[in-house]
Amino acid sequence: MIQKNIRDIRSRIGNSAVRVGRDPSEVTLIAVSKTFDSNVIKQVLTYDQFDFGESYVQELIKKRQDPGLERVKWHFIGPLQRNKVKYLIDFISVIHSVENLKVCEEIEKRASRIGRLIEVLVEINTTGEHQKHGIRPLEAGAFFREAGIFDHVLLRGLMTMAPFADNPEIARPSFRMLAGLRRDLLDQGVPEIQVQHLSMGMSNDFEVAVEEGATMVRIGSSLFGERPAR
Ligand SMILES: *Cc1c(COP(=O)(O)O)cnc(C)c1O
Repeated sequence: MIQKNIRDIRSRIGNSAVRVGRDPSEVTLIAVSKTFDSNVIKQVLTYDQFDFGESYVQELIKKRQDPGLERVKWHFIGPLQRNKVKYLIDFISVIHSVENLKVCEEIEKRASRIGRLIEVLVEINTTGEHQKHGIRPLEAGAFFREAGIFDHVLLRGLMTMAPFADNPEIARPSFRMLAGLRRDLLDQGVPEIQVQHLSMGMSNDFEVAVEEGATMVRIGSSLFGERPAR
């Protein structure tokens, strides 16, 4: 089942990329394994899927110690409080959900102590919904200038969550806005490497996201099946 899902998702990513003249290898699939146990992750690893995303700090720090998961490249995609940074700092590869400078400062402080470099994406609220996380698009320029000074926080792009809907077209304006913001930031002089990635698209809408320029798609339920209620 999972093998079929992963093949299917890869081919849909590839087809979406090709449809808009993109190279499918520009898009990284991040398997969102929250609520699924380590045995399932191990199974997915056998299909050469190494990027996994988790949203809850406690769950992640437990899983990452499980034998057999040493080769996983962990992405943190959930809301991150400053006081939780210390639990992730010695192994996390990419944090997709940074939305305040205090968290950047904390990552910098702790990463510099142990000589690690952490890739960070800045979460943007592209829907204007108040309950959504992320900074406002208009504030992104200032954020990049201020967070761009750190040596161990490597700014690498933008992340967003589109409105949840059955029709994936509902998500397109959010994705388009994120891609547009990336261009604005480049125009404002933000170095290209700092806005290299667009992390956008989930099970329901990843094909639209790839069409709009996603370089990372975060896919859970289409790969693993329905999540049990937490
Ligand atoms: C859970 C989650 C996903 C995956 O959602 P699916 O709809 O199951 O693919 C992606 N991104 C974030 C931030 C999530 O919390």
